Amino acid sequence: MTIVVQKFGGSSVANPERIRRVSERILQTAEAGNQVVVILSAMGDTTDDLIELAAQLSTNPCKREMDMLLSTGEQQSVALMAMLLCDMGYPAVSLTGPQAGYKTDGVYSKARIIDIDTKRVLSELNDGKIVVVTGFQGLAPNGDITTLGRGGSDTSAVAMAVALKAEICEIYTDVDGVYTADPRVVKKAWKIPEISYDEMLDMAAMGALVLQPRSVEVAKQNGIPLCVRSSFNQNEGTIVKEVANVFKELEKDLVVCGVAHDMNVLKVNLYGIPDQPGVADLIFSSLANEKINLDMIIQSGRGTPGEKQNLSFTTGKDDAWKVKSVMNAVVKELGAEGFDTRDDVAKISLVGAGMITRPGVAANMFHVLADNNINIHMISTSEIKISCIVDADRIKDAAIALHTAFGLDRD
Ligand code: ASP
Ligand code: MG
Repeated sequence: MTIVVQKFGGSSVANPERIRRVSERILQTAEAGNQVVVILSAMGDTTDDLIELAAQLSTNPCKREMDMLLSTGEQQSVALMAMLLCDMGYPAVSLTGPQAGYKTDGVYSKARIIDIDTKRVLSELNDGKIVVVTGFQGLAPNGDITTLGRGGSDTSAVAMAVALKAEICEIYTDVDGVYTADPRVVKKAWKIPEISYDEMLDMAAMGALVLQPRSVEVAKQNGIPLCVRSSFNQNEGTIVKEVANVFKELEKDLVVCGVAHDMNVLKVNLYGIPDQPGVADLIFSSLANEKINLDMIIQSGRGTPGEKQNLSFTTGKDDAWKVKSVMNAVVKELGAEGFDTRDDVAKISLVGAGMITRPGVAANMFHVLADNNINIHMISTSEIKISCIVDADRIKDAAIALHTAFGLDRD
């Protein structure tokens, strides 16, 4: 029998009617003769609501307790789904992350899965049951519940698919697949039929919210293909795999496969820091010690002896509080002039493997932004990606203009 891993996101299980609809899809898969492991997110906005609830009682909630709290969201959805499946006459069992064997490191709110002990899941499957598992959570070495970061159920699903040697991991969501841009912003965006892990990784990391970046990384490392599709219709979805032909239905030879934007950007500027060895080490080790993920880093100064340097970097807004406390300490220790933060900026990125062989993509991007009178605060590039930080209130204009300029518009 083939093992199929299916993950359903929060919007797919947002209310009883949707849970019912998803249960039918699960049963279809089981009736087709597969062993089915289902990974669920919390219902609808449950995770956001729980975060808000915590904020009403605590200004800086303890991370351990936050994980304890947030992990309950997923427990609701799996229990409800399993009882419904049982009512429908199919043996099903719900399991929490720890029960399903997810072992993580001890980093609350951003834990990484280290291993999955599949004994329990396999024995339930072999008893003929549909196994419904909470996404987003695992067990730390000290026995505490940890969560995997926002959107972490994707990673739970991919990791389970890897551990069970499933052929494919299906990710069901509220959109038809991976789009060339966010279709809510860019009306002429369209669904990409196939995309490579690398392109998907950049799209996800650059703000395309459809998959958690870590899930793509785990899929790539283990060569497990993903299928991202809607739980609301039967459309085909997007396949994410090693070598993909993004534009297989187009004759056009396009350089980029997508425009991604990310509103969750905090820009930090450090002024007047001494120009000497060890400074960057001190700044970024301090941030790393607090498990703060960074994106862009720019250091500027002419390098004249004795002259001070300026340094800017970006991170996610959720870390603002921690970043500020680390920066206060760093400024003091270095005798720097000071720092400030800005959260009214956002990131726009072009992604595409086609860039490797075509010069002038960056120049063209800057040209389009200039034509639209959009100011660029920071720039960073990699082999298959160019990102700019711009004012948050211009991000939609930037996405629409770039989508058009790079030939991606479709009616
Ligand atoms: N419920 C968690 C969140 O909203 C995990 C997930 O949905 O993947 O981030
Ligand atoms: Mg969610």
